[in-house]
Amino acid sequence: MQTLNLNGLHLYQFPGLARLPGLRHAVSTRDGAGAAMGGLDLGNSGPERPADAAANLERLRLALGLERLVYNRQVHGTDILAVNGAEPGPPAAADGLATDRPGLGLLIRQADCQALILAAPRRGVIANLHVGWRGNAAGLPGKGVAFLQERYDAAPSELYAAISPGLGACCGQFVNWRRELPEWFAQFRVGEDRFDLEAATRAQLMAAGVRPERIEASGLCTVCRPEFYSHRREGGTGRFGTVVALVN
Ligand SMILES: [Zn+2]
Repeated sequence: MQTLNLNGLHLYQFPGLARLPGLRHAVSTRDGAGAAMGGLDLGNSGPERPADAAANLERLRLALGLERLVYNRQVHGTDILAVNGAEPGPPAAADGLATDRPGLGLLIRQADCQALILAAPRRGVIANLHVGWRGNAAGLPGKGVAFLQERYDAAPSELYAAISPGLGACCGQFVNWRRELPEWFAQFRVGEDRFDLEAATRAQLMAAGVRPERIEASGLCTVCRPEFYSHRREGGTGRFGTVVALVN
């Protein structure tokens, strides 16, 4: 990935997505608020105090020049919501967001789970999915591709996809994999009990019709890289995030 420094926030971008007109995106790190203020925790759950998620979310929104950030209450499920920024009430429970409205930043908050961006900028449609191992094993990547086709008429072949930093194959140990993961997941086992979740997501995208040359993956493991919040490395911790938006 390439780095990007915006308003003092240290962010990452996918080189391919960054070249697409009509699209803005970034992956945040814990680095941005300065030592005196604590890290850029977007989830208000981290050890770094004062961690003010609302203020940090606002800093991220301003740095990206977006009208609004939209996020939901992530529950490791496979529900995807189409949003337009005018949703009333507190964030709904869902693990995917899609929109055709420019200026709206779809945010997935993470601490080892992947975010998966799907984008058809020419058609004016994007999605962002929270693909933890549960979502991965439950087929959320393919479900996201199907959602964009059914709801917005975006063909899988016109989609670009980007898999964010997450639990890498180096650290993706699942001691109870026989019980926790479906049988078809065995093809992504890389050691005695380690799994390549990025490969699992990529394979599902390709099976759903996304062109392989349009799939980018960060290759960054959140457990190995201290700039990201990591549940496996740190236990109860904060959240970094992946944002994607359509822009005029
Ligand atoms: Zn690792």
